[in-house]
Amino acid sequence: MSNKYETLFTPVKIGPVTAPNRFFQVPHCTGMGHLRPKADAATRAIKAEGGWGVVSTQETEIHPSSDLTPYPEQRIWDERDIPALRLVTDSVHKHGSLAAIELAHNGNHAINQLTRAPILGVNEMSADILSPRQARQMDKSDIKNLRYWHRMAARRAKEAGFDIVYAYAGHHMTLAHQFLLPNVNDRMDEYGGKLENRVRLIKELIEETKEEVGDKCAVAFRFAVDEVKGADGMQAREEGRAVVEMLAELPDLWDVNVSDWSNDSVTSRFEPNEGYQTSYIDFVKSVTSKPVVAVGRFTSPDLMASLVNRGIVDFIGAARPSIADPFLPMKIEEGRFEDIRECIGCNICVASDNLAIPIRCTQNPTMGEEWRRGWHPEKIQRKGSEESALVIGSGPAGLECAMQLERRGYKVTLAEANEEYGGRVLSESRLKGLNAWRRVADYRIRYLQQSANVDLFLDSRLTAENVLELGVKNVFLATGSKWRSDGVGRSNRKTLRVQPAKNIFTPDDIMGGALPKSGQLVIYDDDQIYLGGVLADHLSDLGFDIVFVTPANNVSPWCENTLEQHRIQRSLINKNIDLKFGYVISEISEDRVEFECNYTGKKLDVTTQSVLLVTERHREISLYEDLMKLVSEKDSQKFFLKLVGDAAAPGLIADAVFDGHLAARNFERDDGEVEKEFYIREIISLK
Ligand code: ADP
Ligand code: SF4
Repeated sequence: MSNKYETLFTPVKIGPVTAPNRFFQVPHCTGMGHLRPKADAATRAIKAEGGWGVVSTQETEIHPSSDLTPYPEQRIWDERDIPALRLVTDSVHKHGSLAAIELAHNGNHAINQLTRAPILGVNEMSADILSPRQARQMDKSDIKNLRYWHRMAARRAKEAGFDIVYAYAGHHMTLAHQFLLPNVNDRMDEYGGKLENRVRLIKELIEETKEEVGDKCAVAFRFAVDEVKGADGMQAREEGRAVVEMLAELPDLWDVNVSDWSNDSVTSRFEPNEGYQTSYIDFVKSVTSKPVVAVGRFTSPDLMASLVNRGIVDFIGAARPSIADPFLPMKIEEGRFEDIRECIGCNICVASDNLAIPIRCTQNPTMGEEWRRGWHPEKIQRKGSEESALVIGSGPAGLECAMQLERRGYKVTLAEANEEYGGRVLSESRLKGLNAWRRVADYRIRYLQQSANVDLFLDSRLTAENVLELGVKNVFLATGSKWRSDGVGRSNRKTLRVQPAKNIFTPDDIMGGALPKSGQLVIYDDDQIYLGGVLADHLSDLGFDIVFVTPANNVSPWCENTLEQHRIQRSLINKNIDLKFGYVISEISEDRVEFECNYTGKKLDVTTQSVLLVTERHREISLYEDLMKLVSEKDSQKFFLKLVGDAAAPGLIADAVFDGHLAARNFERDDGEVEKEFYIREIISLK
């Protein structure tokens, strides 16, 4: 290990326990939680194996009145939850790491859809998640109950083997936080009003947790020091600091961040800088002698070491960087810096939680598949009897497929039609805010370029004849997809009537460098995922006067899942982009585009010279079809042809990477075995 980073590998005492190093996987959701305990434990185990000195659970519901259904977070309602949690602690301890649990009562953020328990609030208030049921203000007996539930949950956590037990006041998502916030808590009793009163509940929770488990477990306090609302909320330099001053020595560890979740886990599109929370939390260590952990999408060892050396934090906290590369600590320790798979800040992992599905990651296709498919991010099965393979196309699917085939021991040839590798990753990363996405390509290209077992070819658009001439019989076609220019998409299945000479553009045209001549542009976004919004932002910066029309009711609605939708809409509004919601395109003519209202059919005419259609994609499968034709029935026995990535099914970059990985892993495996893996589930035992 280079001495420069030695400091990151020194043990740190946290109350009665000692972390083996300074890498701290802070609590983060996996979309598996109490519903898929084996899968969850396997994911946490991989983090510990990769060198994270502390591995935390996701938020853990302490009581049925904090029921987050349908989101599968962690659960510790009673002793029957202990065995599942013990799976986590055992698997983390096996690798010498500490296991932490984040206890939470989510107040009006938990709408108790399963239990139908009353929703508890700091005040009388609407639920935080759209629901007709309101929260009722907790009275004294509710507060007493809450303290008892927290204490009992801590007791069970200790029994389950956790080393660190959290009290959690962050993300606007817990009662402990809501009681603290000046603009939320409007109680008139000793739990409301001045800060001393608002702090009372969290102080009691920390004290009682210490009383209950402090002999054996460290008690951590996760606290959002700033709401990032300026004077309209709690601010780090004012009340945020005052809270830390009041409770300075009470917890054994301070885990500090900013709130809400969209500010804490902000995407690289809106916050490109690593360490973006440092200016909020850098005062904490000067107030407390207890160890401090903070996050900020850290992937650079130099920044990590400097934060520790400068006395800003004791632990490098990470959720997303530990998802993108569970072996990040080990790679730093072994000086394998180029092997680090850096998080790109896309929040596809966050989206899985918001969709209540098992976690997935753009950079790390094995994430969430550790138990189900037995995938390990650093290990892969050796090849079978075949020697070589050809991969056509160097987008995310082709690059990942080629890389994993190489790791399995095949001789790999990768052919790319363009002058640069990267496919859609490269094109999309040139758009406004998406620069970090390049890392998906860079990481894989670097690996492939260093391997003696890989031949890489640019400027090589292969035909079916070329492929046969090459004499390879194992061919992976990662030829991608192209955006449609006929208006067909989610809301309209008919090819549009288009007058000739119309300036119609697709995202591929724009990303390929073709721009409308006139300064006016209609963007029609029927994709409704992210690209339409990105292109509007990008083209507005290039000076286009844009009318943005979509059948949706807001801009890029899918990006609610990545916590970005409000930022995207704000950005387009601030740019004076004319936004029209609820319209489906019906006709494009010489100088105007016609739309129909989704609800009434009423027409809307927009005058423009140019239209950008962001609707749907066609798979690029002509080469595949040509090859299938050329290879006769008999010869086809000798050929392995496989479509991967967007050419198999257009989706996210994460889907393309996953599919490339899956194809490489499954090559030379029995089809029946492969098929079975789709059926693997954790099924509730009826015994
Ligand atoms: P994916 O997301 O599935 O990886 P992309 O669209 O990002 O797909 O990448 C597909 C890549 O395949 C593009 O870079 C494209 O230039 C390349 N490609 C398509 N057809 C051919 C071909 N016949 N020969 C070589 N490369 C091709
Ligand atoms: Fe990072 Fe994206 Fe992976 Fe999440 S999904 S860890 S943001 S690369």
